[in-house]
Order: sequence, then C-alpha cells, then structure tokens
Amino acid sequence: MPIITTDLARCVARVRAGDLLGMPTETVYGLAADAANAEAVAKVFALKGRPSSNPLIVHLHDASQAGQWAAEVAPAAQRLMAAFWPGPLTLVLPARDEVSRSVTAGQDSVALRVPAHPSAQALLAAFGGGLVAPSANRYMSISPTSAAHVAQQFADSDLHILDGGPCQVGLESSIVSLLPGDRPRLLRRGMLSQASLEAVLGEALEGQDGGVRAPGQHHRHYAPSTPTLAFVQAPFEALASPRCGWLWCGQALLSQGPAVDLGDEPQAYAAGLYAALYRLDALGLERLYIQLPPLQDAWGAVHDRLARASQRL
Ligand code: AMP
Ligand code: MG
Repeated sequence: MPIITTDLARCVARVRAGDLLGMPTETVYGLAADAANAEAVAKVFALKGRPSSNPLIVHLHDASQAGQWAAEVAPAAQRLMAAFWPGPLTLVLPARDEVSRSVTAGQDSVALRVPAHPSAQALLAAFGGGLVAPSANRYMSISPTSAAHVAQQFADSDLHILDGGPCQVGLESSIVSLLPGDRPRLLRRGMLSQASLEAVLGEALEGQDGGVRAPGQHHRHYAPSTPTLAFVQAPFEALASPRCGWLWCGQALLSQGPAVDLGDEPQAYAAGLYAALYRLDALGLERLYIQLPPLQDAWGAVHDRLARASQRL
C-alpha cells in the first residue's frame, strides 16, 4: 500500500536511499528519483512502464544549479529562467557529459525545470541535487493532480507520496528547446502562453516539426479508460442515457448521466481537468463526452491534452 505523508525528512531519506517518491508540483504530481543515481532512474521507467526512449525532466531547486546539468546556458535560456522560474516551464538545453544518458534517453540534450510548489521547493532544498520526476502515472494514463490519484495509480506498491494538496496549474509544463544550431521550439504546450514566452525570447517559437525528435509526445496519452468523445455540438440522444458521462466547459445541458462543469475560464478548467477525468473514469460508464472549449490561444494546452484523451465526435 502506498503511504501518503507530509513528513519531509522521511521523504528526503527515501530519495537519498535511491527509492522513488511521489512529489507534488504545481503542474502534476511527479514520480521522483535521484537524477544522479542510474539505478533509481531505472526504477522510474520500470514502475511507470515508460519506454526508455522517452526522456525525463530534471527538477532543480533554483536556476543556479542549471550549469551542473547543462553544458551551456545561452542568454535566451537565462532570460526565460529569470522570467518563468520557478514555474511551469521546462527548458531543453545541451547536456553535460556527466548527465546519465538514461535520463536523456540517449540524447545529448537535457530537460530542466524549477517547480514553484512549496513542498517541491522544500524537498529539493533539503535533497540538494536534481530529481527526475515524470508524471506519477502508469504509461499512457491520466496524469495525477492529487496524492490520492498517485496512490490509485500505484496501489500495489509501497511508494511514499509527499502530500502537497491539489496541483494549482493542473497540466504538464510548457517545454521549450533551446539548442545550438536550431531555432527555439515549443515542444509541448503548457499553461504559459506562447505570446508570453516569445515576448521574453524576443523571437517567434517554432513548432515541433523541422525534423527535431520530440520524444514522448505520442498522439494517444493522458487517456481515460472509458471511451471518450469530444464534441462541439452535444449529441442529444446521449443526454438521455444514464450510462454516459459529461465534462462541460461552461455550457452544461441537463443530462441523465453524471456531469462535471469545469466552467469557461482556462486556468480554473486546467486545474480541474485531470481530477474530473479521474472521477468520471472511475464510474464505469459506457462513454464519456467532453465539450470542447473555444479555439483560442488561452485554451491551447487544454485542446492539446483533450486531443490526446479523446476522439473527435
Ligand atoms: P513528462 O512526461 O511530463 O515528464 O515530460 C517529459 C517530456 O519532456 C518528454 O516526453 C519529452 O517530450 C520532453 N523531454 C525531456 N527531455 C527531453 C530532451 N532531452 N529533448 C527533448 N525533449 C525532452
Ligand atoms: Mg506524463
């Protein structure tokens, strides 16, 4: 049985001993391990069932540690760190030779982030080193935004989970790659707007294409086990079925089946999305219907996750 705790010293001891730890961050809960301990890193891949071709993000206490992992921190990277760290931004930078290639999935680049969550900050300060912390869910399932979700994902383990309450951002970090010889790229959308990142960079961000490998960004991901359909026009027949569940974006219609309305404000919606999916997915419904939010930049990360979680009706 997993152990949910607020005992920081005990959690630090676990990580030092090479054990895994459920760690709260402001984005989602991570499955943390000492990034400098190859055996501990291997346990992360094994417990998640994550392919070793999918690299991990190294979480640091502050930007001054970036040079211990990155071979080069260019001025553009420094500007983004100053503007958005601690916070939901991951930077992909050239890796130092010492960084284990099991962390980077064999690449010569490393992904770094300084999380803002006070419990993550306290843990990283006490630990002193870097922690890999991919989302604390089994491969291809929904990212956890509470300690209870993590316990549910790894119910048959003795994982310790540092309880930091519900995640405030609720979606995975924005990932920007800044590699020599390539334009800055947005590898994954998060709740930081592209415009705010570009304003600090002083140039436009390229998309994922251009031949650059963006590992781990599979189309199907973050998916409930209930067949899930996303719609613009509600399918009226389904509203009469008690076996259909509903996730609304501010325009809920009356339904026979269970419904959650996350509202029409992007930040609040994002913060509640995964918890709503956990709740509805646990009901053993025949189908889950999700109302698509407006096609606006502020909803970009939500649209990205919904496209991975559902099929378009
Ligand atoms: P997560 O699954 O939220 O821990 O995020 C990890 C994701 O970060 C991976 O799936 C990649 O998309 C991205 N990533 C991590 N390291 C690198 C890297 N060195 N180069 C490119 N993308 C990376
Ligand atoms: Mg994940």
